[in-house]
Order: sequence, then C-alpha cells, then structure tokens
Amino acid sequence: VAEIFETMDYGPAPESAAPALAWLSQHQSRFGHFIGGAWTAPTATFPTNNPATGTELAQLSQGSAEDIAAAVAAARTALPAWRALGGAGRARYLYALARQVQKHARLFAVLETLDNGKPIRETRDIDIPLVARHFYHHAGWATLLESEFPGYEGVGVCGQIIPWNFPLLMLAWKIAPALATGSTVVLKPAEFTSLTALLFAEICQEVGLPDGVVNIVTGDGTTGAALVAHPEIDKLAFTGSTEVGRLIRKATAGSGKKLTLELGGKSPFLVFEDADLDAAVEGVVDAIWFNQGQVCCAGSRLLVQESIEARFIEKLKRRMETLRVGDPMDKVADIGAIVAPVQLARISELVQAGVEEGATLYQTTQACPTNGCFYPPTLLTGVAPASVVAQQEIFGPVLVAMSFRTPAEAVALANNTPYGLAASLWSESLNQCLELAPKLKAGTIWINGTNLFDAAAGFGGYRESGFGREGGREGLWEYLVESTPVVVPSSQASASATKEAPT
Ligand code: NAD
Repeated sequence: VAEIFETMDYGPAPESAAPALAWLSQHQSRFGHFIGGAWTAPTATFPTNNPATGTELAQLSQGSAEDIAAAVAAARTALPAWRALGGAGRARYLYALARQVQKHARLFAVLETLDNGKPIRETRDIDIPLVARHFYHHAGWATLLESEFPGYEGVGVCGQIIPWNFPLLMLAWKIAPALATGSTVVLKPAEFTSLTALLFAEICQEVGLPDGVVNIVTGDGTTGAALVAHPEIDKLAFTGSTEVGRLIRKATAGSGKKLTLELGGKSPFLVFEDADLDAAVEGVVDAIWFNQGQVCCAGSRLLVQESIEARFIEKLKRRMETLRVGDPMDKVADIGAIVAPVQLARISELVQAGVEEGATLYQTTQACPTNGCFYPPTLLTGVAPASVVAQQEIFGPVLVAMSFRTPAEAVALANNTPYGLAASLWSESLNQCLELAPKLKAGTIWINGTNLFDAAAGFGGYRESGFGREGGREGLWEYLVESTPVVVPSSQASASATKEAPT
C-alpha cells in the first residue's frame, strides 16, 4: 500500500480509479483469506463486481468451515498476549490503525465506491473519516479501560459478520471496540463488498498488529453460519437483516455466546406544521437518499402534519428533481448505484407492490443510467399505514409518505412497525420535540437533524431492530466480561488479590 502511495500520480481528477485498480493488480485481483497475519491461497473463488458498470473487480475466496476453524484458532492463539499488552499497549495499535486509514483515505474511498456503488463524495467525506474517528475514539477508551471498567476484561474471541451498506465503517464499528478491550477477531465481510476489509488486513500488517489479532474470512452466508456455529467463539456481533438475525439468535440459543444484533429498520421522519420546511426537505434528502437509502436507520417513512402536507410534498418533489443519479465516481453525483442486481430487483418489486396497494408513485424525470444497478429517487404518497411498503424495509431510495393530525396520532403512527431503530423529529418547538421523543420506540432520536453518527454515542435498536449497542461506553460493555478470579495460595494471598493482574 505504501508503495502505491509513493508512486501514484493521481492526475487532476480526484475521483480517479487508478489507486484502487493499482492495488487490485498488485494482488492479481485474486484474494485468499487473511488468517494468522498471512494470506491464504485463493480457493473456490467468486467474483465481486462494480455495481455501477457490472464489471468484475476481483475474485474472492468462499470461506469454508475449515477456513473459519483456522481463523478462530489463530484468534485464540493470539488472545493471551494481546490481553496481556494492557489497554495502553493496545491503544498504540489502535492509534496506528486510525492514522493509517487516514493516510490511505483516498485509496479506501475509491475502492469502497468501486465495490459498493456509493458516491465518492460520501466515501471520501463521510464513511472513511468516520472509520478513522472510530479507531481514534477506541484508542482513547483502551487507555482508560483498567480505570473505567475495573474487574472487567475482553470477552475473548469475537465472530463478527457485517453487511454491504457501509463496508469499512461496519468493520470499524466491530473491530475497534473488540481490540480496545483485549479481544481478538474473526470478521466476515459481506460477499458483495469485501475489498476494503481486505485492504484493511494489509493495514494491520503495515502497523505490525500481532498475527491472529484480526482475521478476515470472505464468503457468503454459509461462511457466516460456520462462524456462528463455531464452539470456540465467545461473542458474536452481527449487522444485517432481521431475517438472518433471527437465524443467528436461534443458532446461538443456549450456547453461552454473548450476542449483539443490529438489524433492519423503518424509521419515521416526523414533520410538524411549525417546522422549518426548507430545512426539513434537506433533512429528507439526507434521511432517505444518502447511500441510495441503503441505510439501516434511513428515515424511510415520512409522517407530515396534515395542515402542511400538500405544501411540503410539493417542495420535496421540486428538490427531488435536482438530485443527480449517476456514476458514483463522479464527485457531483448525489445518488450512486444500488449494491447488486438482487437488491435492485427487490426494490422494484416492493415499489410495484406499493402501487398495487393503491399508493401514488412519483419518480424524478432526471435521467437515470440504464447500464448499471441504478434506481431513481422515489416517493410513494397516499400510503396506508398497514400496507407492505409502510411496514417492510425497502432498503433503497424509496420514501413512503403518510399524514397525521395531532402529535398523539404522530406518535402512534411512528411506533406502528415491528422495528425501533431511529426517528427524526422536525419542529421549531423544542419543548414539543422533547416531550414526544421519549414516546418514540427508537434507539436513536434526532431533533431537526438526521443520520448523525458519533463514535461516542451508543447506536442500536429495539424490537425487531435488534439488541445491544455499538459505540461509546455502552458499546464497550458488549465486549467485556467480569475478569476470571485467580485463586492464589492462602500464604501469598493479600486480602484484595482476587483479580487477574495485567502483566
Ligand atoms: P444479510 O442479513 O443477508 O447479510 C448480512 C451479512 O450476514 C452478510 O455478511 C451475509 O453474508 C451474512 N449472512 C447471510 N446469511 C447468514 C447466515 N445464515 N448466518 C450467518 N451470516 C449470514 O443482509 P443484507 O441483505 O446483506 O443487508 C441488508 C440488511 O441489513 C438490511 O435489512 C438492513 O436493514 C440491515 N442492516 C442493518 C444495520 C444496523 O445497524 N441495524 C446496518 C446495516 C444493514
């Protein structure tokens, strides 16, 4: 990676694909797994494509149960020394990882955009800086661990399974707290978007992270299932669909494995009649068209007070017309490609179902590329609260709109789904917002804002959106267990020597 940086001429266009393509060709565009600090030979490979063009970027290895077993064994072997380093020792590595991510930010951003289809503006300005921030934040926590969590230690070997919508950011959310607490990791990235995780493996090598502390095994759901089933895993962290979350909960029941699930959502975006409507329109753009709506906490249900509904929808439609759908590498694109044809088909089917249920469809008249996985910004109005599109997560650039008369009706409508991940309230009356917020069943509530993430704030859901928190102090608890008391012969025992002391 360092070599690419030294020799690369980026040219005048910041969105050049050159650095990512050079990195891929360094690996002959074929990747094995990263286990015990080394690459395995590529086997049973499958392609990973650029969704904006359909072209193949690389071949990835389909991880078997044996690969998972080798990775878990490497993580287990690495555990005692990693723990024994102590918080301050581990913090040095976390700071180094954060710094290396920053140094290679452009390479990461370009690679992520090619692999995932999200606009380069987002990877460059949002995803990758948040990744670095997450590692910095947890480096800080590592130094505080012994004083802030006395009597606790890292949970052990962690199995971590992540989705494709924020590939490197989800990796950071998983790996940073695990490493900070003295745990080791086997991570399985999503099959559509594994490339930045593999580049991250190289960053681990660059900073000299001890072998086996981070292991990356690629593959599809069967690889994930093998990781879930492995008996030597102490904790599982999963982000993905509610459906797979359910399978994992069943598979781990009674196993004693610690578990956190970050699942789907159908988050409400409530606009009251006293809201700043222009600001709220910008909020909607961010809520549902950021990352093509492929955001677990996307404000995908617009709930507008009846008195301003017509005016607000009119403003929103005008704003929709200005959104540019196009090549994600183009730095002025607002909306890039959907991650894969299967997701594109799912979005189209759900929108069709909405229309058949009686909703009115509005799509922008702007041109939308036809040769990749693109879907235009979409608004469904006249949606019934019990309809499929009002209840099911679409995970695409599709907003469904409903109206309410009173604040009480707004709360009832907002809570009327099986999910509980996030909510966004728009009103100039802070009193009203603060009164309503506790009545909403949501793990995160934004007031006159949306999609704001902070490494210091715990993030997670209620109900079918999962359980457990990621980020901040709450997130660290998920990676900690009470330290095992050490039995000391009575002649040497001091009154308080009941905990294992870090060496
Ligand atoms: P998915 O659940 O199919 O896949 C997520 C990950 O789980 C992938 O790595 C996949 O390979 C793996 N997987 C699939 N089947 C598995 C199994 N049986 N056992 C173990 N692992 C398995 O989800 P997806 O379609 O890739 O992602 C979209 C979904 O993820 C959406 O529903 C979205 O709401 C959700 N999501 C939630 C959050 C959150 O923080 N709550 C964040 C991002 C995405």
